[in-house]
Amino acid sequence: MRALIIGVGQCGTKIADLFALVDFDTLAVNTSRGDLEYLKHVPQERRILIGESLTGGKGVNANPILGREAMKRDLPLVMRKIGSIIGYEDIDIFFLTFGFGGGTGAGGTPVLAKALKEEYPDSLVVAIGALPLKEEGIRPTINAAITIDKLSKIADSIIAIDNNKLKEGGDDISRAYERINYTIVERIASLLALVDVPGEQTLDASDLKFVLKAFGSFATVGYAKADAGKVKSLSRLIIKSFESEGLYLEANIESALYGLVAIHGPPEILKASDIFEALDYLTNKIRGKQIFRGFYPDPREREVEVVTLLSGIYESKSIEDIIIAAKRYAQSFMEAKEEAENKKKELLSGLPDFDDVYSKGGSELKGIPDGEYPDIEGISKRLRRERDD
Ligand code: GDP
Repeated sequence: MRALIIGVGQCGTKIADLFALVDFDTLAVNTSRGDLEYLKHVPQERRILIGESLTGGKGVNANPILGREAMKRDLPLVMRKIGSIIGYEDIDIFFLTFGFGGGTGAGGTPVLAKALKEEYPDSLVVAIGALPLKEEGIRPTINAAITIDKLSKIADSIIAIDNNKLKEGGDDISRAYERINYTIVERIASLLALVDVPGEQTLDASDLKFVLKAFGSFATVGYAKADAGKVKSLSRLIIKSFESEGLYLEANIESALYGLVAIHGPPEILKASDIFEALDYLTNKIRGKQIFRGFYPDPREREVEVVTLLSGIYESKSIEDIIIAAKRYAQSFMEAKEEAENKKKELLSGLPDFDDVYSKGGSELKGIPDGEYPDIEGISKRLRRERDD
């Protein structure tokens, strides 16, 4: 299983930086030189500044049009870098991490996703994006809705993380971002770490690709972990991983088409009856009824870890709220714009042009034919002559 994590924009590169910390192949792409320098773990030669001719390396200030333009201009540079990282061996999945509400990530990610799909048709492109907080207001909401629309036509799956779930922790915003970024990476890294490794029943790259190849619909990754000594019911722990508190997206998991569950822990805890009870429950719950499973008994382990990936989701309150709010904002903005234009037209209508007022015999400048604009030098010469006479 070979994955490349590409972070775009500030949020995306911060997430990619955490993936680099746990030894994933990463690339960081941003319009802000300062934000790229701030990263700690992505190697220097894997950081690409885009759109410098457009922004001078100062970022795009949440403007997705500039983000899109920056990515378009420097796409050859980015694609060359990706080509040199990949070499001759295929990549199974490109994970693109970004914030839906900003400029570089929101504008640039769809451009990059499209180029990757064209250049590497056998690889999956999976978007991992953070949805804006409700309090962030109009622009991030509109940016997110439009980017969701674009990516849903390009990416194989969109793993959306609802930042509104952050608020439940009560931390300040940067600590809260850190916490959610860490959580995303922990979940996805744990899942990827279990693919293609020996176990009782294993998951391979083709299982993961099958589950994530879901025509641009939404996916979510649930997670539950507990001390082996404290697990009274493994089946309960597995179910917890895909219940609302385990997920970072408000979604109706019954609308999911596919699921994948990986369980890792000490062998005495991984009892087949418990596992099948929970998996039967999940199979019956989701619409597509297809669950892939992997069990990884590990005698050295003291904890039980469950990662659940649900994909093919098309009913999500987090997403619907954003789309509905964005449409409302966009509609009232367009109405206000139209009203302003009409008011301006109404106020200014009926005004004459300069010619109507100053020519047709009304000219104070003698000798200037009606309807012609005099040249300044000619006028001053004539005035001087008249004065001297
Ligand atoms: P860009 O650099 O122009 O792409 O802008 P950002 O990456 O800063 O994107 C801004 C959006 O991402 C906002 O909606 C923020 O709520 C969200 N965001 C910014 N930083 C983080 C972060 O570190 N973690 C998470 N989860 N969301 C973030």
